[in-house]
Amino acid sequence: MRSDLLHYINGEWTESSGKDTIEVINPATEEVIGTISNGTKEDVDRAVKAARAAFPHFSQTSKSDRIDLLHRIAEEYEKRKDDFVEMITQELGAPVKMSNKVHYNMGLSHFKEAAKQLDTFEFTENRGSTLIRKESIGVSGLITPWNFPTNQTSTKLASAFAAGSPVVLKPSELTPYAAIILAEVFEAAGVPKGVFNLVNGSGETVGDAISSHPDIDFVSFTGSGAVGQKISENAAKTVKRVALELGGKSPLIVLDDYDVKKAAKIAVSNVLANSGQVCTAATRTLVSKAKHDEFVEAVKEVLPKFPVGDPRDENTFYGPLVAEKQYDRVQDYIKKGEEEGATLLAGGTGKPEGLEKGYYVKPTVFTNVNNDMVIAREEIFGPVMSIITYDDLEDAIRIANDTIYGLAGYVVGDDPKTVEYVASSIRAGRISINTPPADFSAPFGGYKQSGIGREWGDYGIEEYLEIKSVVGMSS
Ligand code: NAD
Repeated sequence: MRSDLLHYINGEWTESSGKDTIEVINPATEEVIGTISNGTKEDVDRAVKAARAAFPHFSQTSKSDRIDLLHRIAEEYEKRKDDFVEMITQELGAPVKMSNKVHYNMGLSHFKEAAKQLDTFEFTENRGSTLIRKESIGVSGLITPWNFPTNQTSTKLASAFAAGSPVVLKPSELTPYAAIILAEVFEAAGVPKGVFNLVNGSGETVGDAISSHPDIDFVSFTGSGAVGQKISENAAKTVKRVALELGGKSPLIVLDDYDVKKAAKIAVSNVLANSGQVCTAATRTLVSKAKHDEFVEAVKEVLPKFPVGDPRDENTFYGPLVAEKQYDRVQDYIKKGEEEGATLLAGGTGKPEGLEKGYYVKPTVFTNVNNDMVIAREEIFGPVMSIITYDDLEDAIRIANDTIYGLAGYVVGDDPKTVEYVASSIRAGRISINTPPADFSAPFGGYKQSGIGREWGDYGIEEYLEIKSVVGMSS
């Protein structure tokens, strides 16, 4: 069993000022993988002090120094591939294939993309006799969730380093090991001391200490809306800037001209990927009344191609949910769906056959869902799809936008004009058409209650910058 009781502060692995610990569970086996420290407010104070001390120098490093640093990080990251894949599979329950192709790659891509963007990024602009400078925001506090242990941390870290901002990171206590490997990567890459600080622990202690710390200038948070609100309230007391990446209830609009079987495959794989624990998951599938029956048949046909199972099995498409609490929450939503009168097309409550140990959930599809039902309004964060019918295009767009969220939207269709019209009509931060390749330069973030701010690429770097105008320069 692992024991990782040290934090990484000021370039050193250092003991916590407290003795409290947290057990980390493998969700596929329900066994304890190891223990981490439940850090304290004093630990956060030390980390912030180290970051503050690093700020004057790090914020003034040249663009090329920081590009070199990001390249060195990417090189060291690649050396730890097996460790990342193994740890993410253990701590999150992600299938090895997914840990490798998605989780490992996403983390790496953010560092590479930040280096690329930095190359052409302009930190100054002349407007007549005024010089506009983009300067590092100061010390950033980063608080991340468990569902993408390398993606969520790396996008923030890559942008912060690109902008010259030292950080204090608190990863999720459910999946802390990928962040510990990242700390080792930074150590090997020669990240200057104090620039990266890792304090492990719970949200109530470490997260709260970060969001309320007077010497932190900016908090970038990814997680639930409820915690996002608390962080905003805390941050308001010292008027610090906050970026929030929160939840979603994203629509996938299936247009009538699109191949129904292809659409069903896209819809099912989207909602089951990462066991449905994806903030951008297309959990509301919108199909025309005319195509409904054909689509439902196609979904039934395609479901067995995305099997739930042991994350170590190469054939598994999705593994368990991350924790028992998450399992219970998803079970409650499935019960609610049935109580509200939606028709269970597949799955349902209870564990899939043969997977009684571990937090596994059956691939669950509801049809005859009304957009007013709880399962269509609230984020479930599990492998649960709701099929909703629409009358015509305007009705589809109306339903798609009838949500408090606006993180993502999906449209599958063949006619480019209609697809473009739908894409421009959905009020959300990221719209995907058919099945596009990944683009790590595309800004990521939400409209409405899905968040504030944008991550990834050059827009991500902007988050960690302040704007200064120097008026009266000789032109
Ligand atoms: P969460 O809000 O419970 O926890 C996120 C992080 O906040 C964790 O590190 C946690 O320890 C910390 N935290 C908890 N209480 C805190 C407090 N009072 N003060 C400061 N920090 C605190 O979310 P989660 O369960 O880890 O993740 C699931 C949620 O994250 C879902 O709602 C999902 O939609 C959202 N999410 C959003 C995005 C996005 O980019 N928009 C990406 C992934 C996940």
